[in-house]
Amino acid sequence: HATRLSSPLSFEQSARQVRDNSQWISGGVNSNFRLNISPTPLVFERGEGPYLYDVDGNRLIDYYLGMGPMILGHRPEALCDAVRDQIERGILFAGQTQVEAEAARLVCELVPCAERMRFGTSGSEVDQAALRLARAATERQKVVKFEGHYHGWFDNVLWSTAPSLDVAGPADQPVPVAGSKGQLPQSADALDVLPWNNLEILQRRLAKGDVAAVIMEAAMCNAGAVHPAPGYLEGVREACTRYGTILIFDEVITGFRLAPGGAQERFGVLPDLATFGKAIANGFPVAAIAGRADLLDMFSSGGVVHGGTYNAQPISMAATVATLRSLKPSLYSLIDQRGTRLMEGMREAFASAGVQAVVTGFPQIFHVAFGLDAPARDYRDLARSNKKAYVAFTTGLLHRGVRALERGAWFMSVTHDDAVVDETIAAVADVARELK
Ligand code: PLP
Repeated sequence: HATRLSSPLSFEQSARQVRDNSQWISGGVNSNFRLNISPTPLVFERGEGPYLYDVDGNRLIDYYLGMGPMILGHRPEALCDAVRDQIERGILFAGQTQVEAEAARLVCELVPCAERMRFGTSGSEVDQAALRLARAATERQKVVKFEGHYHGWFDNVLWSTAPSLDVAGPADQPVPVAGSKGQLPQSADALDVLPWNNLEILQRRLAKGDVAAVIMEAAMCNAGAVHPAPGYLEGVREACTRYGTILIFDEVITGFRLAPGGAQERFGVLPDLATFGKAIANGFPVAAIAGRADLLDMFSSGGVVHGGTYNAQPISMAATVATLRSLKPSLYSLIDQRGTRLMEGMREAFASAGVQAVVTGFPQIFHVAFGLDAPARDYRDLARSNKKAYVAFTTGLLHRGVRALERGAWFMSVTHDDAVVDETIAAVADVARELK
């Protein structure tokens, strides 16, 4: 290990290029979630399988996977062929294509709640479509969301996604905290923020009979990788039905990742509406809203508007079909085995270095929290973990050729094979010893 420790990777070219780019691009990056990364936001040349290659000539094992989408890894052959094929036929028609019908048929076949669906281009945008449908169907305005859950960057939902605990109010009655300057303060008037995984509080809120929709990540994956408590999703489903509230699962991360049919398949609880993005097209800008036919058909005959120049863009649809056709049960069992081995290897590495860490979640997406002695149940638990130590950990890993999100979870792809897992565990063991 001594040689590896003494010659960590360098990221000087990336740092220089980001600095140079900032004369044209605000901050040198095109999403705020790519800012403030230690030691620098990276600039990449190409990706292949589980690896990214950056402008400093480093080969990095990639656990960002584009923030979740690349479940087949970088540049899967069948997808690249399908995209090349489609591009020969044209780019954008503002009309219908056979490839979009096939993509829609596959979504409806794979996703348990999907009687009907529509495509969009980002998770943020289809979440708005779901909330609009719910308000139209119930003729109510209020929406319940949960602390630590992320449903895109728009005004009416960017509340309490990662609030600092000193302004977040009591745990059982969180105060909505704006995620950005410039948000309309009134955009929280129609929003209630509740603690997740607490059925009683939700039941009491829904009993007032004025809530249009409950929107949640069925497993809290954006802020970590937290399981729903046993019986919680079933209880939420039952309470929503009883009080006439539309249940929306935001499956932008969990969809096509936890199982072919997402969290709703994995946990056996059906929402009225579900939203998808990320893994649906392995890196192409595709999102979807799916669910009850009577709700989705409000777009066609119920006076609810949904639009988008790039909805069902043919090249992206070819990528969607190629991705969804690849999602065989064998793919999930491979990721399951390797992800489980990686999580166990990391636990052992931390234990033998004497570092207190919890590695928890799912083999397809998991997270690491320092300073906790049990898996987090909600956002408040996660917020108490040692974030500084975690950033030191991901920074150390990057210098050893492993790229993991410094704010969030680890994503697995089917190309992360046993050798890649072994190399990752060795890097984790090195860094864990240094953290001590
Ligand atoms: N919902 C969840 C659970 C997400 O994790 C994200 C993005 O990270 C979104 C919605 C928003 O999706 P997009 O970034 O495609 O707008």
